[in-house]
Amino acid sequence: MSAPVLAIAGLGVEIARQEAAPIAITRDVDLELHAGRTLALVGESGCGKSITALAVMNLLVAPLRVAAGSIDLKEQNIAALPPGSAALRAIRGRRIGMIFQDPMTALDPVYPVGEQIAEGLRLHLNLSRRAALARAVELLHLVGIPDAAERARTYPFQLSGGMRQRVMIAIAIACEPEVLIADEPTTALDVTVQAQILDLLRDLSTRMGMATLLITHDLGVVAENADEVAVMYRGRVVEQARVDALFAAPAHPYTRGLLASLPPVAGKRERLQPIPGQVPPAGADDQGCGFSDRCAFAMPVCRAGVPSLLAVGEGHRVACRLHDTNA
Ligand code: SF4
Repeated sequence: MSAPVLAIAGLGVEIARQEAAPIAITRDVDLELHAGRTLALVGESGCGKSITALAVMNLLVAPLRVAAGSIDLKEQNIAALPPGSAALRAIRGRRIGMIFQDPMTALDPVYPVGEQIAEGLRLHLNLSRRAALARAVELLHLVGIPDAAERARTYPFQLSGGMRQRVMIAIAIACEPEVLIADEPTTALDVTVQAQILDLLRDLSTRMGMATLLITHDLGVVAENADEVAVMYRGRVVEQARVDALFAAPAHPYTRGLLASLPPVAGKRERLQPIPGQVPPAGADDQGCGFSDRCAFAMPVCRAGVPSLLAVGEGHRVACRLHDTNA
């Protein structure tokens, strides 16, 4: 595989506290994004997925901060750039685009959507207002909005949820970024629209050669829309593989639990099996494997130290004592 467009190495994010030790939110996260491919980051709420995305965009707000590691966009460590710096502004929206969960809060209610798409084009590509608006109409057409010229003049509240999310996608891809981050891009949408938006994202990522990070809590979404997958639990990556390998042979008990809790395929009568317990809050005691309190296979050795990610197949790594021959 070619060199990664974006390489996250040893990323640790923490909550700084005035008179107490910081609380770790993510630890030792290593991820690589490649051109034209989609990496899905999966896990329950509170596992550190969205925080990882915000760290990549350098959008963490105090008391959150990057405590360790690097985020290299090609050769540039963007985690080291000062917040608000010109270098960072030149990257955000230009070289890295982001699609947020809720377009209604991400879009500005008082500007027509065409103006909002044109803004990034004028800022990053120095297009004139007229040229930027013309390109905004083309982008609305590209993301499947009918009557694009007319819709460019409408305000977000005049559009359906699916249309608003298409506008968000148009904004994110306007400058043809090298990296696209989509954080739960379909959570706020109904099921039929979800599939259309995910198809659109997949198609655009492939056609434009973007390296895409798709954040989701839903492994069903991963199966159809990603090439590689990293499963996060309590701020760590616990399993990483190609999507086909992960679905064929999930190795971590947490991944198996996520798969067992997927709704059954139509026509099959299997029952949903939710994972017992809940993700503990950040800062809760995490001696050893963070999943040990919920794991049916937990052994005394599991609490003795944090399991390392070990290879169990080509490009397939898992952090679990069940697969550690030295345990
Ligand atoms: Fe379960 Fe132990 Fe594996 Fe953790 S290391 S997932 S507790 S078997």
